[in-house]
Amino acid sequence: MDMDRATPGLSRRRLLKGAALAAVPYALLPDPRAGAQSQSVDYPPAEWRPASTANYTVSSRPGAYAIDRVIIHVTQETYSDALAIFADPQKKVSAHYVVRSADGHIAQCVREADIAWHAGNWTYNTRSIGIEHEGWVDRPEYFTNALYQQSARLTAAICAKYGIPRDREHIIGHYQVPGTDHTDPGPDWDWVRYIRMVNFS
Ligand SMILES: [Zn+2]
Repeated sequence: MDMDRATPGLSRRRLLKGAALAAVPYALLPDPRAGAQSQSVDYPPAEWRPASTANYTVSSRPGAYAIDRVIIHVTQETYSDALAIFADPQKKVSAHYVVRSADGHIAQCVREADIAWHAGNWTYNTRSIGIEHEGWVDRPEYFTNALYQQSARLTAAICAKYGIPRDREHIIGHYQVPGTDHTDPGPDWDWVRYIRMVNFS
C-alpha cells in the first residue's frame, strides 16, 4: 500500500475520481479540501479524512496482528463532529471509517494497517477494523437504506481482503467487546438485514 502512494498513475486516477465526486449534485461535502485527497485510501469509494496521529497506533497489520473482526459503532455525534473529534489530538479516539447517514458517504480516518482506538479494549483494537455510523442508538431514523448499503459494501470488502467470515461472530457490535459499557449500535440496528447485505454485497 505504501507502493500505491508512490505510483504516479494512482494520483491521476484520484484526481479524476475527485472531479466526478464534485459533480454529484447532492454532494454535501462540507470541506472538499484538495490536500485531503493526497493520501490513498484502503477502500476506493472512501474519502480520506485523517484522524490526528495522536489518536491511533501506527502498525503494520495484518503482519503485526491478524485482523479477524469488524466492529460496528454508532457515533452519538453528527458525521462532521465525529470527524472533528478524530482530528483533535486531545480526544484520544478514532475509527477507521465513518459512514454518513443521509447518503452513505464514507470517510476513512485511519489506515487499515494502523490500530484505531475505538473498542476501548487493546486486544480488540489490535485485531479489528472499526466502522462508525452517523446517528444515535435511540434514533433509528439515522439508520437509512443508504447507510446500511454502503456500510455493508465496506464490510464485505474488508471481510474479503482479510478472510474474515461474514457472520455475527466476526462482525460484532461495540456492546459485545469484553469490558465495555457502550451499547452501540443499539437495539434498533437491524443485524439480520445487515449480515444478509454483507453476504450479498
Ligand atoms: Zn462504539
